[in-house]
Amino acid sequence: MNNIIDSDDHATTIYLDSAATTFCDPLVLEAMNTVYAKKLGNPRSSHDSGREALDLIIQAEDYLKQCVNEQYVIWTSGATEANNIAILCPTCAGKLVTCATEHKSVLLPCQHSPQENLECIGVDENGYIDLQALETQILQHPRLVSVMFVNNETGTRQPISEIGALCQKNNVLFHVDATSAFGKLPIDMKKMGIDMLTIAGHKIYGPQGIGALILSEKALQVIQKKPLMFGGVPQHGIRPGTTPTVLCVGMAKAAEIAYGRMDQDYQHIYQIRDTLWTNLQKLFPDVQKNGNDDWPYILNVSIPKQSHVNLAALFAQKFTFSAGSACSTGKPSHVLSSMNVDTTNFETFRFSFGKYTTLDDVDLSDLLI
Ligand code: PMP
Repeated sequence: MNNIIDSDDHATTIYLDSAATTFCDPLVLEAMNTVYAKKLGNPRSSHDSGREALDLIIQAEDYLKQCVNEQYVIWTSGATEANNIAILCPTCAGKLVTCATEHKSVLLPCQHSPQENLECIGVDENGYIDLQALETQILQHPRLVSVMFVNNETGTRQPISEIGALCQKNNVLFHVDATSAFGKLPIDMKKMGIDMLTIAGHKIYGPQGIGALILSEKALQVIQKKPLMFGGVPQHGIRPGTTPTVLCVGMAKAAEIAYGRMDQDYQHIYQIRDTLWTNLQKLFPDVQKNGNDDWPYILNVSIPKQSHVNLAALFAQKFTFSAGSACSTGKPSHVLSSMNVDTTNFETFRFSFGKYTTLDDVDLSDLLI
């Protein structure tokens, strides 16, 4: 065990994989340690020690609700579980409508619907959903529309307010996987017409193992009808098990920090993304950007395969990064193939940045080609 804790072999490379996970902020660790040190009871216990834990969870919930302007929080183990609840619970009649570039934790539960009840809308070459096709589906009153806020591989940012307005007008339930967006841009669920929002702690310098599905009253009524799990005192009748007080506090603290420095981080990371892009263009004049330009946290690029150099090994000299989503390692990216990106003649790389990334980190002058 000591070896596991002490090992830091990767520490010599620069971390450009913040879209996969981020490192816990020291202030988050401090907040969690304070709660651990209190030695609190189970938040479901009726004694004082349990009640104190429950109070902390309620405070954390209140903070998240305030961040996104909605009413109910269901704590989960992360975004995957929140997405599964959002997709699999609603039992009303009609189709399930989603997008071809969603995360697997949305696409795979969607595939539990009979094929005739599932509509997967395509995207253009920049990854934007085909809005006209989506509107056609919304007009037929599906049981749920699920579209992610920001794509975790390319950074393409979907027109969520526009889709939310269409769903609201047609009284259609709207779920948004905001795992990549939460804490990085303002989200107002009521104004944007979002009924269910997925978020995760470990993407915003909070702990792994905690996430949430945030719900409107309307969504809560619908998903309460068919819970997926059964056990003691489920949260809002949906998610049983002991709610982890320390992780909930850690997640809310992470959100508080992220909200306090949102603009500053955005500007900083914009500069980093642009600098890396410029440096890549100098080294590889044929490099292409995949996805849109207005999300600085992720730079997904394609570089023509080189006969004399293994590009993945080249970048690995300096960086810790991903070829695509950490959750589909080794498989061709369904996101890039939906965008018709040529992955036969090109190698693709996803570099993703965080508040700890510096401009010096993305200097490529020392790469040995
Ligand atoms: N949705 C998106 C957009 C993601 O990026 C991820 C994590 N890669 C998930 C869902 C799953 O998150 P978690 O690891 O917290 O289950």
